[in-house]
Amino acid sequence: MYVCKSRPADDIKHIVSFSGGKDSTAMLIRMIEEGMPIDDIVFIKVMATATIGAELPEMYEYIERVEDYIHRKITVVPSVLNFDDVFHQVYMSGQRTGIIYGYPLTVGAWCNDRLKLRTIRNHYKSYGKHIRYLGIAADEPERLERLDSFCRAPLANWGMTEKDCISFLLERNMMNPLYEKFRRLGCWFCVKQNLDSLRVLRRDYPQYWAMMLQWDLESPRTFKPNCTVHDLDERFATEDCQLSISDCMPKAA
Ligand code: SF4
Repeated sequence: MYVCKSRPADDIKHIVSFSGGKDSTAMLIRMIEEGMPIDDIVFIKVMATATIGAELPEMYEYIERVEDYIHRKITVVPSVLNFDDVFHQVYMSGQRTGIIYGYPLTVGAWCNDRLKLRTIRNHYKSYGKHIRYLGIAADEPERLERLDSFCRAPLANWGMTEKDCISFLLERNMMNPLYEKFRRLGCWFCVKQNLDSLRVLRRDYPQYWAMMLQWDLESPRTFKPNCTVHDLDERFATEDCQLSISDCMPKAA
C-alpha cells in the first residue's frame, strides 16, 4: 500500500504579515470577513533603541484597535537588533574599517536587512511550512511579480487597489490615524522620508527629532545624500519664522 508521507494540505499554517499600513490592514480585515483560515498575525516591531519602537506611538495604539476590531491577538515580534546598536557598529573590513555605520544610505540602506528582514527570517522559521499573506495591492505589479511561491496576495486576487483599501477601511472607520499626517508610514528615523514627513516629525514629535539630531552629530554619513538633520532643522526653523512673520503682517483690505 502506498503511504503518502507529505503533510496534509490543511497542516500548512496560514500567517498574515501585518504592518499597520492601509494595505495589510484591509487585507487582514477582509480575510477575516471572508472566513479565510488564519493561524497567526505577525507585526514585526522594528526597535529604534532597546526600549523605543521605530514607529510612532499612534501605530502601537492602532494595533490594539485592530485587535479589538477583529477580536484576535496580533503577535508583535521585536527586531533582533535595534537601530541605535547597528548605527554604532564598527566596520571590520573594507575602506570604512574602524568607522561606525551611522545613518544608512538612501539606496541600499542597511536597516531593512539588519532590522526587518533578519527578524522576519528568524521568526517565520518557527512556523515550519506555511503560507504567508502579504498586503500587496492589485496596482503594484512589480511587487506581485517578485512574490515567492509560499506567499499570497489576496488583495490582488480580489482586484483591490491601494485606493480601494483606503475606501474599505474608511467604510469601517478603521483607517490608521497616522495617514492624516503622513503619506507613507515607517520608521520615524527613516532616511527615505520626504521633507513633508520630516517637517511633521520635527513639529509633533520633538523627542524623536532630538534623537535624530544627536545621531546626526555621530554619523559619518549625512542623513540625506547632501544634507544633515541639522541642515534640515535650520531650514524648518527658518520656514517657521517666515510663517510667523507673515501671520503678523497686516492683511490687505
Ligand atoms: S522604514 Fe526606512 S528606516 Fe525603517 S527599515 Fe525601512 S528603510 Fe529602514
